[in-house]
Amino acid sequence: MTRMRRGTFIALAAATAAYPRKARTQTDADPASGSAAPALRVLLGRGDATPDPGGNGFSFNGRAYRGSFTREPDGSVVNVVDLEQYLYAVVPHEMPPSWPPAALQAQAICARTYVLQRSNPRRAYDVVPSEADQVYGGMAAESPAGRFAVDATAGQVMRFDNGYASIAYSSCCGGHTEASADAWGGAFFPYLAGIVCPYCMQSPNYRWTATVALQDIAQRFGQQLAAAGTLQSVRVVDLDASGRARTFELMADRGSTVVKGSAFRLGLGPRVVRSLLITGLRSDASSQSVVIDGGGLGHGVGMCQWGARGMAQAGRNARDVLAFYFPGTEIGRD
Ligand SMILES: [Zn+2]
Repeated sequence: MTRMRRGTFIALAAATAAYPRKARTQTDADPASGSAAPALRVLLGRGDATPDPGGNGFSFNGRAYRGSFTREPDGSVVNVVDLEQYLYAVVPHEMPPSWPPAALQAQAICARTYVLQRSNPRRAYDVVPSEADQVYGGMAAESPAGRFAVDATAGQVMRFDNGYASIAYSSCCGGHTEASADAWGGAFFPYLAGIVCPYCMQSPNYRWTATVALQDIAQRFGQQLAAAGTLQSVRVVDLDASGRARTFELMADRGSTVVKGSAFRLGLGPRVVRSLLITGLRSDASSQSVVIDGGGLGHGVGMCQWGARGMAQAGRNARDVLAFYFPGTEIGRD
C-alpha cells in the first residue's frame, strides 16, 4: 500500500475478496483484556521493548503501545493488540481527526475491514505498521475523535458475498473514482468499478497544475530514452474508462518511448503528478518544461476521502458513504 500522511493517499491492496472466517482462530481475544474482540499481531521489528510498570501496555523504541508483545526467534517484536485499540491509532493517521464524525466512521470501517482481510494465521504477524498496510505508531497517534469513530462502529466491517470486501481508499478522486482492475490489474470487483463522485470539490487537490522540467523527465526515464535522443515533449496516449492516463509517450528528436501511467507518476513523484486524471498536458518550449493539469490526489480506487468528508458535511452517515463508494457491499458485524 502506498500511502501519504493525513488522509491523503492510501492504496489498500486488493487481495482476495473472501478471507475465510474460520482462518481467524489464531486471532482470538487477548486473554489479558477479557474482551471478545480479536487480537491483532503487528510486526514492529527489532528494538527495545519494555512492559509498562503500571501494566498499561509497553514501550517499543521509546513509543507507548497498547496490548502486549512477543518476540520472534529472529528478535523481532510483535505487538499483540486488540483490533479496536489498534484502530484507535490508525484512523487518525489515515484521516484528519478534525473531519466530520461520519467520515471518520467510514474510515474506521474501511480500516477494520482491511486489517481483518489481511489477518494471516500462517504468518507470525498479521500486518506491518507502515504504509505497506496501514501506518500504526502506537498511542501517541490517538485522538478523542478517532477513538469515538472506532467505538461508534465497533465490530462493523464491509462484506461482499460471504467474505470481506476488498478495501481501497485515497485522498481525492478528482470527480471520478478509478476501477481497481484499471489501477492494479487483477480480478474485477463490481463494487470497485469506478463511479462519478460529486463530493470532493473542496479538496485542495481537486484540480492542480504541475510544471516538470523536460530535463527531469529525461533523467528519470533515461534508459528508455537512450536510443531516442533528446526529449522534446510528452503526450497522453490513451485513457481508461475513468479518464485516467493509461500510457504516456515521451517524444525525443530521434524517436519516442511509451511509459505506463503508473510508472510515469511514480517516476516523477506521486506528489508531483498527484493523480493520473490528467486534464491537460502541454510542452512549454521557453521554459523547457511540461505543464500538467490534473484532478485529485492518489490512485482514486474505492472511497474518496474528501468525498466522504463532503457527504458527511451534507448530512450523510457512514453507511451512506460506504454504500456510495462500494456499491453492492453490505455492512455487517465481524
Ligand atoms: Zn471524489
